[in-house]
Amino acid sequence: MSSFIHRNPCKDGAQCKDIDNEKHIQEYEHPSYCPNGKNCQDTSQNHEKAYRHLPLCKYFQKCSEYQKHIKSHCDKFRHCNPSCELGNNCIHFHDKQHIETYKHPFSQPCPLTPYHCALYEQYTTTNTTESISYEVEQHCLDFAHVCRLGRNCPDKDPLHWEKSIHVHRPICSFGNKCTKLVQEDHLNLFTHPNIRDIRLL
Ligand SMILES: [Zn+2]
Ligand SMILES: [Zn+2]
Ligand SMILES: [Zn+2]
Ligand SMILES: [Zn+2]
Ligand SMILES: [Zn+2]
Ligand SMILES: [Zn+2]
Ligand SMILES: [Zn+2]
Ligand SMILES: [Zn+2]
Repeated sequence: MSSFIHRNPCKDGAQCKDIDNEKHIQEYEHPSYCPNGKNCQDTSQNHEKAYRHLPLCKYFQKCSEYQKHIKSHCDKFRHCNPSCELGNNCIHFHDKQHIETYKHPFSQPCPLTPYHCALYEQYTTTNTTESISYEVEQHCLDFAHVCRLGRNCPDKDPLHWEKSIHVHRPICSFGNKCTKLVQEDHLNLFTHPNIRDIRLL
């Protein structure tokens, strides 16, 4: 008879809340510490689950003890900027501090999006790619803009997702039968089928 004990991997991986509980770690297998070291910057969901990390310092990289390299503190906490939980659907794109602190899967947001960027307006209303000027195209590569289609966007192009923010508005429960389809303030709050979230002024 073999006395080999096979532990099943814990379903929560490195994000397990019981990872320091002796009894639990005897029963389940957990990932080891990340090979990238203490201040690993990879905050993607898959990576966080695959490797164990120190608890995140609540001041992130703005921590003064981290900036002064205080060893006793840096041995206990990880210092990196976390990913925004809203990801591509982030609604805080005009909050400068939020954008600087959290990582987002889109480029720097255009300060004039969604209603006041003339370059983006040109970019999205021109039918032929040849007539788009260099200035317009470069602006739309440098900055992310709020996609007019919002949660109904059918675009699968990864470049579109990198250059656009898709805000999830609540869906109007009346859908096509909504009686307020001519009221701009209602259309600005709810998503309706076949109507763009952002309409040109
Ligand atoms: Zn095994
Ligand atoms: Zn566990
Ligand atoms: Zn890591
Ligand atoms: Zn710290
Ligand atoms: Zn965000
Ligand atoms: Zn713009
Ligand atoms: Zn889109
Ligand atoms: Zn409605």
